[in-house]
Amino acid sequence: MTQTPSVIAPADAWVRRPWHPLSLLLVLALWLSTLGNLPLWRAMWDLTDTHSLRTWLGLVGFALIVLSATTVLLSLLVWPIWRKPVGVALLMVAAANSYFMIAYGVVIDPTMMANTVQTDVREVRDLLSWSMLVVLALGVVLPGWWWWRQPVQKLPARRLVGRQLGLAALAALVLLVVVWASFQDLASTMRNHKSMRYMLNPFNTIYASARLVVGQAAQARQPLQPIGQDAVFAPATVAGHKPPLIVLVVGETARAANFGLAGYARDTTPQLRQLQSSGELAYFSNVSSCGTNTQVSVPCMFSHLGREANAKNDIPYENLLDVLQRAGMQVLWVDNQSGCKGLCDRVPNTNTLALKDPVLCPDGECFDEIMLRVLPERLAQLEKAATRGKAAGTVVVLHQMGNHGPAYYKRTPADMKVYQPECRSTVLQDCPAQEIVNAYDNAVRYTDHLLAQTVRWLKSQPRPTAMLYVSDHGESLGEKGLYLHGMPYMMAPKEQTHVPMVMWLSKPLQSQLKWDAHCWKKQVSAPISHDHLFHSVLTLAQVKTRLQQPELDVYAGCVARSP
Ligand SMILES: [Zn+2]
Repeated sequence: MTQTPSVIAPADAWVRRPWHPLSLLLVLALWLSTLGNLPLWRAMWDLTDTHSLRTWLGLVGFALIVLSATTVLLSLLVWPIWRKPVGVALLMVAAANSYFMIAYGVVIDPTMMANTVQTDVREVRDLLSWSMLVVLALGVVLPGWWWWRQPVQKLPARRLVGRQLGLAALAALVLLVVVWASFQDLASTMRNHKSMRYMLNPFNTIYASARLVVGQAAQARQPLQPIGQDAVFAPATVAGHKPPLIVLVVGETARAANFGLAGYARDTTPQLRQLQSSGELAYFSNVSSCGTNTQVSVPCMFSHLGREANAKNDIPYENLLDVLQRAGMQVLWVDNQSGCKGLCDRVPNTNTLALKDPVLCPDGECFDEIMLRVLPERLAQLEKAATRGKAAGTVVVLHQMGNHGPAYYKRTPADMKVYQPECRSTVLQDCPAQEIVNAYDNAVRYTDHLLAQTVRWLKSQPRPTAMLYVSDHGESLGEKGLYLHGMPYMMAPKEQTHVPMVMWLSKPLQSQLKWDAHCWKKQVSAPISHDHLFHSVLTLAQVKTRLQQPELDVYAGCVARSP
């Protein structure tokens, strides 16, 4: 039996009358460009301080731009066979992006997308919160349920394609006209507030994903490029040489602003201060990070390219660890975080994920001290297995969990929480500012403890030793309404890029390097960055290669060179 529209009872008509596909598409476009972009509209509203006629016209123009651009996108993207899932996916992208933008002040750019793709269960668990569930319920479940259940007219394929592409063309025309009419105001707003361009849902996600895929595809097409093939171990003195042991600690999310040694009002680094006052340790006070997130910074720290070249590079190069290994050093990467970002692929490495130490790994996550617990055994295994390199020495990387947020309170054991009360919510703005700082500072103090422990252990080793610590990037703790990190570098606040760096050198290594302590004192306040790390570690490890740039070596001039 067939049913025609005229048979439907009038009372039911509004419920059952199927949507014209284009009308339904416009409803979604309207939702996405208004409620789906609340953070963008909030930012726009905050920008317009004088609400004059001109700014109102500007807002209306911008609204038309967003709506017509979204309509173009949906007309090209949403077709009957995948209408339902694509609609829900777009709602999900808009809601999730909006939540993170409002909750943490982040924007969605390619490096943020790279972070998202490389995240792990621990990180996701740290971000879950009730307010996030509420946002997802209101922004995805309710509208998604409605979207899924709407009956839609079946138009003949050719007619639908014609009309939908017609709609795309019309919306594109509106877009062009409005952009042309408001170009001057629009261009200056976008120039002055660059973060806005990463706030437009869902275009930010599409752009960032495309950039990521294109970048990764470009890397994948090329073979790994070896670097420093001329690297050799070249100690200043050969007589009585003992192979040194150098520990590089890669910090996480520790900012200089909260580091006691940097002059912070709270003494968050009492143990390091003691080492500093006995003249054994140097704090570098003017260090900038390479990026504002782990994904960018950590590979950059081990790269010979430096920040600017790295940002443009899509050639896969070897890194510092490959060069050290090639020069005959033993290398070991110990990870207490989400992995080494490919840096340790060709060197011995171990991570602490599977460890079940009852004291150091409660609740399935380990405190950073676990790395010192496993280190002696792993080093012994390494030396046993080694057939060469014993003379040149060993470089160990400890990749910390450090101050990884937003659950700062999870980074410190209960008996080391000096500053109370701590924020115990992952929705940071739910906590009083001081509680966020307390939890963060406790984690800094725990890093102080870890580094001092490392030094104590190194002192007990019967060989020349050194420790170099530097954080991967900083963190915003609510300044300017920002939380966490990951702002695009060009607009990142100093809190996210000014990082602490600490060096300790044992007396035997100092004499092996013919260390000039006066030179060292000059270097500690010089403006340096992650760009210096590659070239400086080569000097510490006494490895020579033409790749090394003396102007990026903080120790250049402080050590005797091999003849
Ligand atoms: Zn990081």
